[in-house]
Amino acid sequence: MQNLLEDKCFESLLSRAMLSHDLPNNPSRNLPRRSFIQLMTLTGILNGLTSRRAYSESSIGRPAPVINGIPYVSLQSWAAFNHMDLRSPKNGEKSADLTARWGRATFLIDSRSASINGVNIWLSHSVRDDGGRVLIAERDMRTVLQPILLPKPPARPRRIRTITLDAGHGGKDPGFMLGARSEKNYTLSLAQDLGEMLLAAGFRVILTRNSDTYPELEDRPSIARRAGSDLFISLHYNCAASSPDANGVEVYCSTPLGTSSTNGGGPKQLPEPSNRFDDQSILLAYEAQKSIVRTLQLNDRGVRRAGFVVLNKAPMPGILIEGGFMSNRDDARKIFDRSHRKQMARAIVDAVFAYKRHAERGLPPQ
Ligand SMILES: [Zn+2]
Repeated sequence: MQNLLEDKCFESLLSRAMLSHDLPNNPSRNLPRRSFIQLMTLTGILNGLTSRRAYSESSIGRPAPVINGIPYVSLQSWAAFNHMDLRSPKNGEKSADLTARWGRATFLIDSRSASINGVNIWLSHSVRDDGGRVLIAERDMRTVLQPILLPKPPARPRRIRTITLDAGHGGKDPGFMLGARSEKNYTLSLAQDLGEMLLAAGFRVILTRNSDTYPELEDRPSIARRAGSDLFISLHYNCAASSPDANGVEVYCSTPLGTSSTNGGGPKQLPEPSNRFDDQSILLAYEAQKSIVRTLQLNDRGVRRAGFVVLNKAPMPGILIEGGFMSNRDDARKIFDRSHRKQMARAIVDAVFAYKRHAERGLPPQ
């Protein structure tokens, strides 16, 4: 965990402070038996998604345990309710594995660190082992597991067309500095390369800045809103001057109400415009983290939550990518290499397409 007080980049930010509808109209008519069975299987999956009831401990007649004032639910019960398998820890094991229809999650006991399909995700509260019964905070079940492992098919498929890219810092605010090198220059270069790729892929692209200027933090999500953007992506590089070994990628989304930011602070009390899109934002964050760490083979520091102004005020799904540590020798060498930045831009484009498949067609994440 990085030390925020020595992280100029964070200081700067904080201080300014469906499925496919291709089915035939009458699916049971004139179909060969094998196709009919396949169709019934698909229909079962459809039903499992579209008619899913919200889970609560009371819905299966069990009391919700409360630990240190935090309501927990049984992961076994939640898994069974959603037709998933949970391999509980045995003989002092410190992890539990969950297998879903299109995914797998691993939880470390007494830890906030979890992974979904090999992508690290930070929970708000530690997972507990209550004598073989695995407990997860109800908030984490609702704001992390459900949106990623059981995303609701969009009621109205939303076309992903316009994307706002926010190059961190700029102008009077250099961000992190390493000698003569300023973070603001590399975030702008990444945003411009990413913008060109998204344009070439058919998206409409808005840049909050396209030169060495400093739009106020509140103005950046406003630019996205005025442009009718469907996604907001803020680009930064990280720094931990006192921990030169710290390295890797983090993707942030806005902190949901009632949960705490990954890097500390109490539970969020007041809603922000971003909170209407929490489920979509964590799905986008998951896709971005997955695509970047797999493609570029960078250290996976996990999907995280934070109350950054640019995320809080974005009235659309939004993420903030910290694409490596300028304070780490190996990461810095890559950050300063344009071909590496272009690889990262391509990985982000892939993540946008993965998210778009879900938002527009309801296909589950993988
Ligand atoms: Zn920054």
